[in-house]
Amino acid sequence: MPDPDVLIIGAGMGGGASAYALTQRGLTVQLLDAGPAFNPDTDYRLNDPNWEAERFPQKPGSQGKYSYGKAQLLDQRWQHLRSHSHLYGFLNKDNTRKFNAYNHVRGIGGSTLHFTGEAHRLNPASMQMLSQYGVAADWPVRYEELLPFYRQAEVQIGVAGLTRNNEPCPQPAHLPSYADQTLGKGMEQLGLNWTPNSLAVLSQPHQGRPPCNYCAGCNFGCPRRDKGSADQTFVPAALATGKCEIRPGLQVLHLVAGKGDQIDHVITADPAGNQHKLRASRYVLAAGAVESPRLLLHSELGNESGEVGRNFMETLSFATLGLHPEPLGSHRGLPSGYICWDFNAPDAIPGVIGGCRLSPVTVEAGFFGASIYASRVIGGWGKAHKQAMRSSCGNVLGIGGIGDFLPNPDTFIDLDPSTTDQHGTPLARINSHLSEQDIRRIDFIAKKNREILQAAGVESIFEQYGSYDFFNSTHVAGTCRMGINPDISVVNSDLRHHRWKNLYIADASVFPSIGGGESPALTIAALALRMGAAFTN
Ligand SMILES: Cc1cc2nc3c(=O)[nH]c(=O)nc-3n(C[C@H](O)[C@H](O)[C@H](O)COP(=O)(O)OP(=O)(O)OC[C@H]3O[C@@H](n4cnc5c(N)ncnc54)[C@H](O)[C@@H]3O)c2cc1C
Ligand code: SF4
Repeated sequence: MPDPDVLIIGAGMGGGASAYALTQRGLTVQLLDAGPAFNPDTDYRLNDPNWEAERFPQKPGSQGKYSYGKAQLLDQRWQHLRSHSHLYGFLNKDNTRKFNAYNHVRGIGGSTLHFTGEAHRLNPASMQMLSQYGVAADWPVRYEELLPFYRQAEVQIGVAGLTRNNEPCPQPAHLPSYADQTLGKGMEQLGLNWTPNSLAVLSQPHQGRPPCNYCAGCNFGCPRRDKGSADQTFVPAALATGKCEIRPGLQVLHLVAGKGDQIDHVITADPAGNQHKLRASRYVLAAGAVESPRLLLHSELGNESGEVGRNFMETLSFATLGLHPEPLGSHRGLPSGYICWDFNAPDAIPGVIGGCRLSPVTVEAGFFGASIYASRVIGGWGKAHKQAMRSSCGNVLGIGGIGDFLPNPDTFIDLDPSTTDQHGTPLARINSHLSEQDIRRIDFIAKKNREILQAAGVESIFEQYGSYDFFNSTHVAGTCRMGINPDISVVNSDLRHHRWKNLYIADASVFPSIGGGESPALTIAALALRMGAAFTN
């Protein structure tokens, strides 16, 4: 293939949607990813005897390496927010926060390969955090400007359910599972709204993909291809144009500057360590909120604004799990079929800026197989253990909240000064710190979780865990913020780099704020589609 018009670095949600948008405009594209391609027919083996032991399958190159900064001290005042199990006590025995691994899969499809499939539009109020609430930064794009691209993404993916503001999605909502209905009774008692979630999970056939069978395995990789991961939606549509070439297993090591503030070429390495030079007219960086700043910082392209790597936003979360007296069959169904948006607005939580949302976590917490009951709920051995297993399996009911995370100077990505990967590139170092506001938001979620579970009939809470004492990497954003002013942002509203004229960034790193618990993937896709629409041939 001759040099493409556009070379895209990273084939996750941002890279996949960019490939789709650009090929639709007639541009030729090379889509590179450091990780491998996954085949749902052969790689996602939910019918294997040991399916519970391994979550998402690992393949050579599908795991990155990361390092972590200094861990924050825990505070006696917030002891009740520590992750705790009735069998093991505190899950983090230290007096500092712990960094669990940054577990995003590398591969064609990126983190969407193992995402839950929530497909949310941002609350418009969360896009004006600086002008309205004096925190974070405003988006340089208005919600109304993004709306047509949200709709385009929802159609292409086949999103089902209701949007955050109760508009019907292109596909009808999934029916609630019995466990979702049980949580719904608790919500109703407390006067809270419980609505179908908007999900990248088909409820009807769409573009040759069948509807969901409610096996609950979304985080293990969807074997039916109905979950709208980027490899099943945007990437095949880009390939169908005949203008897209996919190159798995190619890690970009450097962006190399040329004349006139243009990127001249990139250096890549294949799994054997062979290096290649690749060239295109334009480059789209879509390696995610941790790897994109790593690549920019390592490439020494200058960081005039000082903003590359800053404003990292992690996932603020808290989950609470209890046993319900009734058999609920909670091991089946969609992980996050229903949602409560009542506290999502930036001013919805009393005394705190930044909202949250609440949704079921039973399946995401791992309770969709028997072995997890044996190790996390029942404990013990012998006859009593067997009896308890028989009477409890399927009875776990969990609810969790995800909340806003406000950027702060101590939460950022930089390069590890002493550790490199197999190609000699410094690792991305994740530095994380929770502010008092963040902790108070977690506190609010923890209280609501307990109230809801109690109202839903749960008699005993056996576990709680959250990001007060464990760093949570599920939704990450920031680090290459978009904005109008080049002194305090990295890309403009069309995602073009303020200095490097043929470089664009189209992933979670461009978010100026992260919202009150909205999942980011649909917004990443909408931004990438909008960027593509602004490209000239
Ligand atoms: C378990 C889990 C559940 C989640 N559930 C949801 C959900 O329900 N809804 C939602 O909206 N979001 C969810 N998320 C988050 C969502 O998946 C991400 O926000 C989204 O995929 C990020 O898109 P991205 O384009 O920024 O990066 P990614 O999708 O992560 O893609 C980045 C790609 O770049 C590649 N890459 C990195 N560095 C290089 C390099 N140097 N050279 C070449 N390639 C490179 C990586 O291999 C990767 O494939 C979940 C995440 C996880 C981990
Ligand atoms: S629940 Fe549906 S979307 Fe999730 S893995 Fe099973 S079939 Fe796929």
